Amino acid sequence: MFITASKLYDFMQCPHKVWRDVYGPQEEKIDEKNPFVELLWEKGVLHEKDIISKVGSFVDLSEGTIEERIGKTLEEIQNGAPLIYQGVIHYENLLGVPDLLRRMPTGDYLPIDIKSGKGFEGQDEFEEEEIMPKKHYAVQLSLYVEILLKLSFAREKKGAIIDISGRELVYLLESVQGVRNAQTWWELYLEIKNRVLDLLSNKTQDKPAIAGTCKLCPWYISCKKWCLEKEDLTKIFHLGRSGREVLNKDLGIEKVRELKVLNVPDLLVKKKKDKTFLKGFGETLLKKFIDRAIILEGGKPILHQQINLPKVKNELFFDIEDDPTQDFVYLHGVYCRDQKGERFIYFLARENSRDSEKRAWKEFWNYINSLPVGDFAVYYYSHHEKSAYKRLSQRYPDVIKNEEREAFFANPNAIDLFQIIQKYTDWPLSSYSLKDLAIYLGFKWRDESPSGALSIRWYNDFLQNHSEDILKRILEYNEDDCRATMVLKDGISKLSQG
Ligand code: SF4
Repeated sequence: MFITASKLYDFMQCPHKVWRDVYGPQEEKIDEKNPFVELLWEKGVLHEKDIISKVGSFVDLSEGTIEERIGKTLEEIQNGAPLIYQGVIHYENLLGVPDLLRRMPTGDYLPIDIKSGKGFEGQDEFEEEEIMPKKHYAVQLSLYVEILLKLSFAREKKGAIIDISGRELVYLLESVQGVRNAQTWWELYLEIKNRVLDLLSNKTQDKPAIAGTCKLCPWYISCKKWCLEKEDLTKIFHLGRSGREVLNKDLGIEKVRELKVLNVPDLLVKKKKDKTFLKGFGETLLKKFIDRAIILEGGKPILHQQINLPKVKNELFFDIEDDPTQDFVYLHGVYCRDQKGERFIYFLARENSRDSEKRAWKEFWNYINSLPVGDFAVYYYSHHEKSAYKRLSQRYPDVIKNEEREAFFANPNAIDLFQIIQKYTDWPLSSYSLKDLAIYLGFKWRDESPSGALSIRWYNDFLQNHSEDILKRILEYNEDDCRATMVLKDGISKLSQG
């Protein structure tokens, strides 16, 4: 079995996936392509085509069987082809398909991948944060470099990425990962490669989990079933794979019910004597996870602290829809509850243009500015809205200044319910997503398969065909998200009242 760039990528998303793809119950794997994953793929293909149309002349090796392409790539490299597109390089159990192989003045070949994302982490249009290579790009490039080194077609450990903006960024793979991490990218690659090898040969298996990355995975239902049957510890919100590993290793516990009966004072005594024991778990965290384990099976939500939400005449529950592949906010939805009743108001970018995005943004702020000062409260869920609004105010400073936007969110009446949920409450659920919480509280989305990722797919379809039916679906989904936020706010208030 070959080690490929996609296996390395899968490992970085979820180690268990590498194993499950080979040895898992294949009949439980969902065949159906996720529409959002498909959209990402389509966008990637379009971006690659665009870049390729601008790189000048090249040898195209994108057609043919893998064996034929391996042979042709070798031949072209030996003939000194200046640029090869979609060549296949192979050495023993390593197989790579770099988008481009460029001959350097030294005669060596540089592997280049075309990516439809940003080339480095922290590379923001406006931020001046420290930028650093992306882990999965560095690891994938390392695979190509190792093959080229083994074949004597390269001598340096470096590759390049052409990113969404068309910039070429060089990845020096022997440099350390950061100030606080002395491991080089190359060492990271070797470590990951060995772990992937162990999984592919069934030497190790890793375990399924309930995690944030699972929702877009074709094994989602299968792994969730396993976790429920085994009462796996990742059923506990936020405990995660690494927490599970610590509890498995140090306490020998595997099941939620075993966590419920732990004696915290005894554990703390042991922890005091041995600093490596239950690393990362302090008293508060242990108690929190035990509380969550106790209520998980049939228990009731818990309120850890009294919460007083503002008493105002106008309540707004808002939610945005944006397409991160284009850094584009296409919809601001607001569900308004006041003395006149309830209604949904929205501000939509009907075209995929900065003008249209700006117009919707401006209309949204005109609406906010029309509200009675001091007599409204705004509720949203998670930092996503806040971060998107930060980018919009930086992009369109003439609509609203940064300071005004900051003041808006600093107002105690602008409330991120996720913060409240996380800090002051616990629920008998494995996930505290808006969807899971609102469904628990009895809310039902009109759409049968509601998701932000699907909305992005619909919006992209709407841009193509301007179908009013699709637009209706987008708006209904957004309205339901806003109403779900209202249901959650009411649920918290009720919990507060006892
Ligand atoms: S569903 Fe989750 S745990 Fe299972 S393979 Fe996919 S990402 Fe991994």
